[in-house]
Amino acid sequence: MSVRAVGEIASFHAHVYFDGAEEAAAARALRERVAERFAVRLGGWRDQPVDPHALPMFQIALAPELFGTLVPWLMLNHGSLSILVHPNSGRPRDDHLRDRIWIGAALPLAEEVLPETEDEAETAGEPNTAPTLSP
Ligand code: ZN
Repeated sequence: MSVRAVGEIASFHAHVYFDGAEEAAAARALRERVAERFAVRLGGWRDQPVDPHALPMFQIALAPELFGTLVPWLMLNHGSLSILVHPNSGRPRDDHLRDRIWIGAALPLAEEVLPETEDEAETAGEPNTAPTLSP
């Protein structure tokens, strides 16, 4: 097996899942707290599951440099929500299924929709938050 370099990771995603009204409210609050503290790109609010995800969720796209603060912050502040953190290295299947971490309880993913490779690893994109608080 060849050694991979961290530079292969173009960005990370943190997918915050929720199930039912109570968790949806907790996820909304978490989303606001993240936006107040981190320059990230928040994805749309998904009330219905979108493949490969089994539950409603929203996505946080983060630059690799933010991993060391945002992920520990999520570990301390996720409450009872499940969060999938995965790299975007151009290998969607491995990124989501093999090389991920879970904060909270692990959930199933629809493996069959995840391609082995993609042409270009997804970057975090322009942040759409304007943080005013320190994490
Ligand atoms: Zn993702």
